Amino acid sequence: MRNFKDIFDQFDWNEVTDSIYAKTRQDVELALNKSDNRDIEDFKALISPAATPYLEQMAQLSNRLTLERFGKTIQMYVPMYLSNECQNICTYCGFSYDNRIERTTLTDDQIQQEINAVKAKGYDHVLLVTGEANKTVGVDYLKNALEIANPQFSNISIEVQPLDQDEYETLLRAGLYAVLVYQETYHKAEYKKHHPKGKKSKFYYRLDTPDRLGKAGVHKIGLGALLGLEDWRTDSFFTALHLDYLEKQYWKTKYSISFPRLRPYEGCLQPKVNISDRELVQLICAYRIFNQEVELSLSTRESETFRNNVMKLGVTTFSAESKTNPGGYSVYPQDTLEQFEISDERSTEDVAQSIRDNGYEPVWKDWDRSLV
Ligand code: SF4
Repeated sequence: MRNFKDIFDQFDWNEVTDSIYAKTRQDVELALNKSDNRDIEDFKALISPAATPYLEQMAQLSNRLTLERFGKTIQMYVPMYLSNECQNICTYCGFSYDNRIERTTLTDDQIQQEINAVKAKGYDHVLLVTGEANKTVGVDYLKNALEIANPQFSNISIEVQPLDQDEYETLLRAGLYAVLVYQETYHKAEYKKHHPKGKKSKFYYRLDTPDRLGKAGVHKIGLGALLGLEDWRTDSFFTALHLDYLEKQYWKTKYSISFPRLRPYEGCLQPKVNISDRELVQLICAYRIFNQEVELSLSTRESETFRNNVMKLGVTTFSAESKTNPGGYSVYPQDTLEQFEISDERSTEDVAQSIRDNGYEPVWKDWDRSLV
């Protein structure tokens, strides 16, 4: 069985970029006028500069397709950071090994304390997050955390270091539902520059992680690129190509896409390429028009205004009131050592109310383990 690497290696970054920028208005209209079965060339047209005059049309189509598949709902989840220990150097992350910060990993009692805090806010879907530190937050730690959380949530996702297939199988037995693993950038040389040390520096091990997840039978896989490290259009093309490949190869699995933006702020890595609000809307609509099944997730990295504006344009999943430090909800609520700054600081109830004000329903649980 082949892996995504075999497909990826057939593409040249610069040629892909040139072909996106060469798309014409005719290509965009062709993509918009198809009734279904849009392909990766259509996706290229929809993210190209040629599509910018069609944004309103794209937004209307994206809205309609999302309503047909997902109805007027937004799924709610909350990230729960269990550890900020990390042996990787990533140029854009507050937990990077070379940052002299206090490191902490939650104990069983502290995990339970955090669970109590997010359950009290109404969450039934949780995303457990750790850095990459095999000795402290390896498979045994994750298995134990899943076993603690499993009886208390309907749906548990993780965003942790990439693992081997048998390790994912172990975690599935402990209650794992979904795994998010973002490639950050599909540009090999830039990837190396931003991940100079640690296991994460192995580009192809990360690239083939979704294949290992598919083979292990993980129920949902989340993909994405960190927008700003490289040309967002080319990185998004490779993300869509990855999605397309995985859907065909592991057709029983569900998929989600995230679009984290590297935001310019003082003291942190500045984006090499900015993606404006308008361009991010274009990208969200392009993903939806390209793929009607995929979940599209928007985190609190984005502002209240932006999230309110794009709620109806294709997004299906929101986090709210997120803390990006371990123990941030209850154990260490004053801690300022966050992985990244969030923009939307509203309470869970305020976000839920604004979803209702837009005529949508916040969904706290849309999945039950008895259905699997
Ligand atoms: S992005 Fe992940 S792997 Fe990289 S430093 Fe941050 S926590 Fe570690």
